Amino acid sequence: MGPTTSTSTPTGATIELEKLTKRYPGSGAPAVDSVNMEISAGELIVFVGPSGCGKSTTLKMINRLIEPTGGRIRIGGEDVTDMDPVRLRRKIGYAIQASGLFPHMTVAQNIALVPKMVGWPKARIASRVEEMLDLVGLEPGEFHGRYPRQLSGGQQQRVGVARALAADPPVLLMDEPFGAVDPITRDHLQDELIRLQHELHKTIVFVTHDFDEAIKLGDRIAVLRERSHIAQFDTPEAILTNPADAFVSGFVGAGAALKRLNLTRVRDVGITGCPTANVDDPLQDICDKLRSSGTSGMSGTSGTSGTSGTSGTSEILLLDKRGRPYKWLRRGDLMRAKGSLARAGTLVHATVTRDATVRDALEAVLTDNAGRVAVTGRRGEYTGVVDMETLMNSVHELLEADRLDAMEHRHELEEARTEQTHHEQEGVDSGEAKA
Ligand code: ADP
Repeated sequence: MGPTTSTSTPTGATIELEKLTKRYPGSGAPAVDSVNMEISAGELIVFVGPSGCGKSTTLKMINRLIEPTGGRIRIGGEDVTDMDPVRLRRKIGYAIQASGLFPHMTVAQNIALVPKMVGWPKARIASRVEEMLDLVGLEPGEFHGRYPRQLSGGQQQRVGVARALAADPPVLLMDEPFGAVDPITRDHLQDELIRLQHELHKTIVFVTHDFDEAIKLGDRIAVLRERSHIAQFDTPEAILTNPADAFVSGFVGAGAALKRLNLTRVRDVGITGCPTANVDDPLQDICDKLRSSGTSGMSGTSGTSGTSGTSGTSEILLLDKRGRPYKWLRRGDLMRAKGSLARAGTLVHATVTRDATVRDALEAVLTDNAGRVAVTGRRGEYTGVVDMETLMNSVHELLEADRLDAMEHRHELEEARTEQTHHEQEGVDSGEAKA
């Protein structure tokens, strides 16, 4: 990613929960029972578990929206269990489902809320609002004065995140923040959060009941069972390859290998380039490029890539005026469209960022049916491509690893069984001897 941003340096803070407990009045068993957890500064931790297991209650005790009935909370080493909760909450960002924006306030007013409460000077607040809008990918000029109802669900959620981050808190709590948006928007918001976290290094605690979301986002995942008991607290890789018990494997579900597609990022599988042209280029130049594009071959796509009859390499990516992927042009397209750029080629519908997962990239490749997908930067500009072959190689690697794991597992089981029969045999033998 680019150079470090202007955000002040003390970023994330550690969070320690010690025997944290919540007993709601009138209920017998505690909703959260003596949770111990240590979270490092700058980590993104996901709480995942079935509905009602106490995720939300645990999260809300961290900013004392819910008062614990037992235990301690330390943030950045400081015991905040008895601190004034209002003061505490100003130091902790909080984002929830359906954004929680105030409907009668503009986007800018919503974002300015906490900086205003803590007494930032006006000019600093104003520039911070612009900075935050830009950070979450919303054009400040366009969105600044809008009301929440004038935004899509995904945009509202972005503003919700901008508001949570406005006063630059070291800790950000997120309670199923993307639960109410459609799957495609959710994917984008998740990618954005990953990118944001690369820049900001906050300590984030994120609650979800969606295990795939947990895998995609978490540095570590806490799989919680009833009363917030920790079934396993580990990296996504460790949980997928070594689930602690039947409860966790039940949560991981089938197809652990394919789930690992959610762990591999586009930036890790090999981004290559492809010939490009700009819509403003003279038509003749575009034709020339198109003519020469098939012959040179591109790094990473040598030879075997085309599964269909027409070679996948004899095409160029046409970029729009702002350098964003616009159309795939194949040889012959221009001829068929009688030299008209407007009618030629296939529009680009799906693109991915460097932080998107291999699963997202596969989906995009299938959506556009182009054999590859364009990779874009922060403002949607072209930065490269990932081709189908690269993606499929990474799928094969995962499946192979899974096959080996399964074999090893079977081997271990067999060994254990042999040993058991051995022991039983010995037991019988010694029993007989005694008799
Ligand atoms: P989750 O976020 O995992 O779905 P919650 O933390 O919301 O779970 O709830 C944990 C348990 O506490 C549930 O059994 C729920 O019914 C109970 N609970 C939550 N809020 C209250 C409340 N205000 N009063 C009484 N019980 C509650």
